[in-house]
Amino acid sequence: MMDIKNHYDVVIVGAGPAGAGAAKALTASGLETLMVEHDAMPRYKMCSGVLFPGSVKTVADDFGELPEEVFCRPREIKGNRAYLNEEAPCIEVSFSAFGDDESLPENGLNIKRAELDQWLCQRSDARIIDHCRFEGCEKDGDGYIIKLKHEGQELTVRSRYLVGADGTMSRVRKTAFPDFDEKIGLIPNYEEFYRGSIDLEPGWLYLFLDRKFTGFFATVFHKDDIIVVVTGVKHKEPVKEYFQAFKKHLEGKHGLRVDEQIDSHGIMLHDMSASKNYCLGKNNLLLVGEAGGFLRGGEGITSSLVSGRAAGRAILKSEESGRPAIDFFEELARPELDACEKVHAMLAAMAGFNVFMR
Ligand SMILES: Cc1cc2nc3c(=O)[nH]c(=O)nc-3n(C[C@H](O)[C@H](O)[C@H](O)COP(=O)(O)OP(=O)(O)OC[C@H]3O[C@@H](n4cnc5c(N)ncnc54)[C@H](O)[C@@H]3O)c2cc1C
Repeated sequence: MMDIKNHYDVVIVGAGPAGAGAAKALTASGLETLMVEHDAMPRYKMCSGVLFPGSVKTVADDFGELPEEVFCRPREIKGNRAYLNEEAPCIEVSFSAFGDDESLPENGLNIKRAELDQWLCQRSDARIIDHCRFEGCEKDGDGYIIKLKHEGQELTVRSRYLVGADGTMSRVRKTAFPDFDEKIGLIPNYEEFYRGSIDLEPGWLYLFLDRKFTGFFATVFHKDDIIVVVTGVKHKEPVKEYFQAFKKHLEGKHGLRVDEQIDSHGIMLHDMSASKNYCLGKNNLLLVGEAGGFLRGGEGITSSLVSGRAAGRAILKSEESGRPAIDFFEELARPELDACEKVHAMLAAMAGFNVFMR
């Protein structure tokens, strides 16, 4: 058993960008922080792996210069090319056309999520333990008694603050708010990796919105020499059937030729942000990133880094004032909630419908 202490000032559940954002904001504060991650690190997270300009700036400002090992070819992504339906012409929306913040770089970056997330987490001074699952917690005065399972062994730690950065299906959220998930719309996603060719120029994130053959939405992008095809559908609709229909569409209309399928994955997304249905936490338990519902349309990494950072700062303010961290988090997270709502409104204006709630 790794040396895990009985008591921490802060426990962060999840080693994605939201957990990294919180851990980084607490670095050098003197608060002893434990980050627990369910999977083996570096862990794969199904994601297009595009650092939108907002993420590029947030990473540079808060974490420093990205190391070479996180990049994929082509290194830069210019924006989205979207097809609203089978007949409609391609709409090209460069990332720079999306916002009015001139401090942002023009292009996004094409990265490997596993390597990125590990690097982000290691830039903090949190103690990181992988193969370690959050199983539940109960209140203990102003803090929490947290149940963990590390490599099959159960253990308990006490912590004054608990940050749920454990993604879409957050167990921390479910423990603290057992009924909340009933109000969430889930969007199953499925992806396959191919060697082969396609008549879509690399350097763009392709988005397809025709419900007939995508379910909800579908994307195509390049990671080094790999073509990645993804579909996301309404909950309980057959994601693999839609996937096959979309693949056929790509073969017929965009020259997809598959020489070899090399991998496949599935994941859930939710509609919390699209339906303005957030869950920020209570007392000294804070929910960040997708656990809290933070998602700027497809730009989840920015939202996770920024909401994580807000949680870290809220904990520091709680320490100074003796007031619960949630009082500060609600205020510090407000600009990010506004940013999420703005992006969903822009997406709906472009598509003519709420892309996450069809
Ligand atoms: C198909 C797809 C494509 C996407 N493409 C992009 C993109 O190109 N750009 C972008 O900005 N965003 C993209 N997103 C969104 C982005 O991936 C997410 O918003 C982002 O990863 C959320 O970060 P997070 O830190 O909140 O959660 P996650 O990155 O999901 O991290 C949560 C971590 O918590 C761990 N965990 C879960 N439960 C437990 C537990 N009980 N105990 C311990 N650990 C636990 C998980 O293993 C995981 O490592 C995409 C999403 C999907 C589904």
